[in-house]
Amino acid sequence: MKLTFFGGARSVTGSKFLIEANGEKILLECGLFQGKREATYDKNKNFPFKPSSINVVVLSHAHIDHCGNIPGLCRQGFDGMIFSTHATRDLAGILLQDSAHLQENDINYVNRKRERRGEKPFKVLYTFEDAEKAMRRFVSINYHREFTIGNGVKLKFYDAGHILGSAITELSIKENSRPVKILFTGDIGRKHMPILRDKEIVPGADYIIMETTYGDRNHHSTDNIESRLAEVINNTCKRGGKVIIPSFSVGRTQQVVYFLHELTAKKKIPEVPVFVDSPLSVNATEIFRIHPECYNEDVYRYILSNDNPFGFANCEYIREAEKSKQLNNFKKSCVIISSSGMCEGGRILHHLKNTVTDPKNTVMMVGFCAPETLGRKIVEKAPKIKIFGDEYELNAEIVVENAFSAHADRDELLSYAKSVNSNAKSFFLVHGDEDQSLAFAGHLATAGIRNSVVPREGESYDLN
Ligand SMILES: [Zn+2]
Repeated sequence: MKLTFFGGARSVTGSKFLIEANGEKILLECGLFQGKREATYDKNKNFPFKPSSINVVVLSHAHIDHCGNIPGLCRQGFDGMIFSTHATRDLAGILLQDSAHLQENDINYVNRKRERRGEKPFKVLYTFEDAEKAMRRFVSINYHREFTIGNGVKLKFYDAGHILGSAITELSIKENSRPVKILFTGDIGRKHMPILRDKEIVPGADYIIMETTYGDRNHHSTDNIESRLAEVINNTCKRGGKVIIPSFSVGRTQQVVYFLHELTAKKKIPEVPVFVDSPLSVNATEIFRIHPECYNEDVYRYILSNDNPFGFANCEYIREAEKSKQLNNFKKSCVIISSSGMCEGGRILHHLKNTVTDPKNTVMMVGFCAPETLGRKIVEKAPKIKIFGDEYELNAEIVVENAFSAHADRDELLSYAKSVNSNAKSFFLVHGDEDQSLAFAGHLATAGIRNSVVPREGESYDLN
């Protein structure tokens, strides 16, 4: 039995882990490498294996760094089944179509530059049609249902608590009548977050493949997250300002809306208008609404007595561009939640342009922002920022709240590792920048777990 790391190794993008056993090739994740367009193009275009040789794909959740190259894999010859939970299939449907639009726009931009330099144009990685076709390969199964996915290979999904539908995958493989259990954590979430159930402890694996996005960093405590949000809304409303929240469309937006709903119902904040201004968020929220099987007990009970935990009287979802523009003329206090979370594009740019120079307003940053992004400059409170090529003074109050993170932090990862380490032969540490994964290996060793490995891209390991 062999395990090879083809992406998401000493890096957080492009996750692809190939298991070969009993003549089956099982690909865990098929993520997109993200970063500078031209540098990642080749890596995304040229798979390090023959796509048609893969028998099945198993997908832990719908984030693009995990599933974003599934349409590319299908376009280049993969014709097997893709296993995921029901909610992951539905979220992947909208996220892959959105990604296909971005791919088509990006390739036009890159090719105009290449043409000016006299270079040959790139071909698009995949189109909207490819994304739509790839969705037909999905076979979705519920949590805790064992399912045979290949010769001697059984699959079971457990809660990962990361985003809607996210799963920890357990593979039970019998090769030469010897059973081996492999646990792949996918991305794992924080404890006690709203909406989703907490991640599950799945002991007894022989090999563990574990994410380490925050292998060396801790987040703000999730205690009092609601009251901190209330304070921001109340202070800004007292000044007559607006609260602008740049947010990822899937997960973070629904969490924030859920909290605002609760705070409004408990009368801890005034009944200010809340606008969710992003077509993708509107679509994603629809998918949240139809998957109560993923909710924790509180939210599940809530929808039994109320109809929609993601909507309330003063909350409006905006799909049309025209309506979004009308928000520019809205003079009263309000909350605007819009994407992208890192402020690299999307409607949030218009809202920031209209609000950042006025100290009455607040920009609340609730997600991770990569270096060099506009979001990172706001987090770092740069005195001036550039939007659409123009400079604006950053006079609005800036609040950074990282308790909303969808990822477990260092201490949470460590406690998870200890709880599943009953008889693991190896811990493969993946999906983290190199410094985070290596540091986490150190923390594991200090905690007495000395069998961890930080694989490099392309490295294979025999699982015996
Ligand atoms: Zn993720």
